[in-house]
Amino acid sequence: MEKKISHSQDYDPALLEKMLFKVSKKWIAGHSNIEAINEARKSNKCGMSAILNYLGEGYTEKVQVDRSVLEYFTVLDLLRTNDIRGSISVKPTQIGLCIGYDLCLENFGKISQKAKESGHFMWIDIENSDYVEDTLSIYLRILGNNKNTGVAIQSYLRRSYSDLLHLMENSANLRIVKGAYRGEKNEAYQSNSETSQNFSRLMNVMLKESSYSGIVAIATHDSNLIDEALALSTKGSTKNLQFQLLKGVRDELKQQLVNNGYMVSEYMPYGEKWLHYSLRRLKERKRNIFLLARSLIES
Ligand SMILES: Cc1cc2nc3c(=O)[nH]c(=O)nc-3n(C[C@H](O)[C@H](O)[C@H](O)COP(=O)(O)OP(=O)(O)OC[C@H]3O[C@@H](n4cnc5c(N)ncnc54)[C@H](O)[C@@H]3O)c2cc1C
Repeated sequence: MEKKISHSQDYDPALLEKMLFKVSKKWIAGHSNIEAINEARKSNKCGMSAILNYLGEGYTEKVQVDRSVLEYFTVLDLLRTNDIRGSISVKPTQIGLCIGYDLCLENFGKISQKAKESGHFMWIDIENSDYVEDTLSIYLRILGNNKNTGVAIQSYLRRSYSDLLHLMENSANLRIVKGAYRGEKNEAYQSNSETSQNFSRLMNVMLKESSYSGIVAIATHDSNLIDEALALSTKGSTKNLQFQLLKGVRDELKQQLVNNGYMVSEYMPYGEKWLHYSLRRLKERKRNIFLLARSLIES
């Protein structure tokens, strides 16, 4: 008898999504803000702070933007009422930058005011190079009213060195990242080694400025860069140094840093738009694909 061949249309999309979600739970804090708060509590128990990010970006519809602003209001309330040590991290294009500068500024103003009232810090994620100029300009305007805010800066961009010097003049709170995007040669470093070198350069400028009052957040999983930050931190006054890593990545290292007395935060995205984010994490590392394959086999 002829053996039945399974065709690609035979798979059940709902089942596939369920299995993908099972793997993705490593990197995301769940579908809802309640699940995210529970994950944040676990992070606190391990001595870390949580950075909550509601997934979503590139919104061109006002209704999506308004919903995101409301969600951050809710999550700030939940952080307060549950007594969680944590902050939020917001993408500019999630709250209006694709629609207009003024709308985005107004929304960041509202969210940072709410964060101020509830006693929490607000980070601004930085996106692709088209949005960098406006994001930094918005951040500097927000910072004037609320010191408990910070912005990410990407070492893959050539412009970041001069941006950093300007931001430092304003005592900005900065999170240094390599950058999750790519750009043309004239604006962006093309290789990981150049991007890492520039990360080191940015980090050195900040950590060697012993009187610097802003936060210096080193947000990488790269051991060489983390070791360099640790070495620099013993030399200068780095009371504002902190490490930020993604949920589900390098957990042992996080614990070592905590045990050695460093401030560590876990960045944890949550929400219905988890699939895109998870695919990015899967692409980042071959081992993560094996993890997915294993989960598919075991299901
Ligand atoms: C807290 C935080 C906030 C961020 N915010 C932004 C932002 O606002 N804007 C932006 O553009 N980007 C942001 N990023 C993403 C960042 O730019 C990089 O894309 C991402 O962190 C990977 O780069 P890396 O520095 O870890 O270096 P990589 O060179 O990618 O990795 C270095 C080493 O880390 C380990 N590693 C990396 N990824 C994994 C993994 N998934 N699992 C296990 N080990 C791994 C491996 O040993 C790898 O060799 C953020 C990252 C973090 C941690």
